[in-house]
Amino acid sequence: METTFYHQLTTTSLQDKLLSDACCEKILAGSDVELLPLLDAAYQVRKTYFQNEVQLHILNNAQNGYCPEDCGYCAQASSATTDIEAYPLKPDAEILEEAKRAYESGAYRYCIVMSGRGPSPKRVSYLAELIHTVKTRYPIEVCLSAGLIDIESAHILKAAGLDRLNHNLNTSEAHYPNVCSTHTYQDRMETLQAAQTVGLACCSGVIVGMGEGTDDLIQVAKSLRQLEVASLPVNFFLPISGTQLSESVTENPRSVSTTLSPDYCLRVLCLYRFLNPRAEIRVAAGREHHLRSMEVMALYPANSMFIDGYLNAEGSAASRTMEMIKDAGFAVKTNAENVEQFNQGDIEKRDVLLKELKVLRPRMDS
Ligand code: SF4
Repeated sequence: METTFYHQLTTTSLQDKLLSDACCEKILAGSDVELLPLLDAAYQVRKTYFQNEVQLHILNNAQNGYCPEDCGYCAQASSATTDIEAYPLKPDAEILEEAKRAYESGAYRYCIVMSGRGPSPKRVSYLAELIHTVKTRYPIEVCLSAGLIDIESAHILKAAGLDRLNHNLNTSEAHYPNVCSTHTYQDRMETLQAAQTVGLACCSGVIVGMGEGTDDLIQVAKSLRQLEVASLPVNFFLPISGTQLSESVTENPRSVSTTLSPDYCLRVLCLYRFLNPRAEIRVAAGREHHLRSMEVMALYPANSMFIDGYLNAEGSAASRTMEMIKDAGFAVKTNAENVEQFNQGDIEKRDVLLKELKVLRPRMDS
């Protein structure tokens, strides 16, 4: 592909113009579109709005399991047989202590995530008080993910100091019934609209690899652009055993075979950057699992990551993520006072191990 193609992607995105569906399709599946120039084109957009900074997020799985919904990708769904550690809402003291730890470990944002269809009015008041306390104690951004929310609840949470409400669209409207039957795409859209009505910033993203087509991914990216979401997590489906979409549930017609390649995952991240140039694009769940040895390349289109793992799946250690960011020449954006610690601290020194004789001469005895 000629260099003008990649250059036009950057300029079209920076001019806030929409790419055609055909062009988006080419980015995702065009065999003549090469990965490195594509990443560079996306990086030019990322650099314009976020320089070389990386925002780190820490998830607090504040309530795990006991969910009546049947989202096919989720280990907490009533339909999942995954052996997770279920627990009701953690006590205040535990959530506040974890907020402190998130702040001290350099996280820019603390995400409180609760399973369930949506909070009752009583739960909303409780969460509002908790969010107010976190915001009073620590200069950290707070994001809440609590299911379906109406305008009244959104208003109470905003007044308490909530910075962002997370509610992922996950997939396209057409593909949604293949993923969940207990609520609809429209329900999810209405939650985001309620947040926007009261002036709450929205965090909403996608899960790639749930049996959707490239057209579904393009539609979601364009819907999120229309919503002007502030933050956009791009998750790559983790086939957790026991979830309805996982291949392990072979008798389930909803199960999908996830064959995401690192190349494809990076193309998706580039596409989402071109279509949502100002959004904080987060390479979220599945980054280690699907990007594998190409993980660091995600930093060129994306400017945000989770550290310390995901809801029920482990991720790589925070120290390893920090090292990867620094090795690639990016800097951690943090609210912590000791910012230097994160960006100028020494990379852990490792001893060079010498080979033993049995490795040097494996056939010595034969
Ligand atoms: S994604 Fe949320 S609503 Fe869906 S099953 Fe999981 S916890 Fe419940």
